[in-house]
This record gives sequence, C-alpha cells and structure tokens, in this order.
Amino acid sequence: MVRLRRASLTLAMTGNFTMIVSKKIVLRFPSTLVHQPIVYRLVKDYNLSFNILKASVTPNEEGLLVLELTGKEKDYQRGIDYLIHLKIKIQPLSKDVRRDEDKCTHCGLCVEICPTEAFVLDRKTRKVDFYKDKCIACELCIKICPPRAMELYF
Ligand code: SF4
Ligand code: SF4
Repeated sequence: MVRLRRASLTLAMTGNFTMIVSKKIVLRFPSTLVHQPIVYRLVKDYNLSFNILKASVTPNEEGLLVLELTGKEKDYQRGIDYLIHLKIKIQPLSKDVRRDEDKCTHCGLCVEICPTEAFVLDRKTRKVDFYKDKCIACELCIKICPPRAMELYF
C-alpha cells in the first residue's frame, strides 16, 4: 500500500456514501512496460479515471508517468494493487518549485499573485527575494512569470 501525503489527497462522498479518492502519483516503470496499455487497463478493468500531468521516457528507457487517478476507494486500491503486481514503482507526487536566478528580471509580477507571500520585494535593492520554504507549489507564479524563471520539478 502506497502512503500518500495528506495534502495530495482529496476525498469526497457520493450520494450513497461511496468514498471517492483522487490522488496524484508518480509511476516509474521499466522499458518492457513502456508500450503496455497500463492506463487503459486502469480505466477499463478498475473503473478509474485519470489526468496525465506528465509522461516521458528517460534516456535509460525508464517510463515516467505523473497522473491524477480518481475512482471509488475500493477500485482505486485494486488499481494500485494491479500496478504493484506489474512491479511498477509508485510514489506520491511531490512538486518542487525553483527559480532560475539567471532568468529572473525582478519584474515583481509574482509578488502579488503568490498566495503564501513567498516573494518579497526588497525596497532597497529593488530585487524580488524568493523564500522557497513558504512555497506550496500552487504553480501560479509559473504561469505568470514573463521570462519563465519559475520552474516545476517532480
Ligand atoms: S515574475 Fe518571474 S521574473 Fe518577475 S520577479 Fe517573479 S520570478 Fe522574477
Ligand atoms: S508556486 Fe505558488 S506558492 Fe510557490 S512561489 Fe509560486 S505562487 Fe508562491
């Protein structure tokens, strides 16, 4: 059973009190499974829905899939068991937002938009300081930053 951070977990109740689970997870699988219809099986056999956030194949041919998986709690667990049975590595999604200091022009656009005040304008230097420990990876600054200095890492 994969332990997932509470922050990445969304639970809801349907009318007949069936628990709906929605979690963002990272799947890593070997080259032998790269072309297998794994996500299709999750939908067809386990009644899960998905939203692919990132998909790639690394240089050493390892497949990487970041997806949000949603379904009834029992189906979700069955789907996860299926992935474990295939020997796919499953991790909770953890996101890391970083600033490329060479790209940042200190325009200040991110200061207003950040919900946690992770950016502070230093009035003396006229530079925008980034306090990474305040960041909750909401990604708002990534969308708004003109020179694309803010980057998301999984
Ligand atoms: S929006 Fe981008 S370029 Fe402007 S201060 Fe923020 S990180 Fe720097
Ligand atoms: S990702 Fe969100 S919380 Fe983190 S610095 Fe950007 S706007 Fe602030």
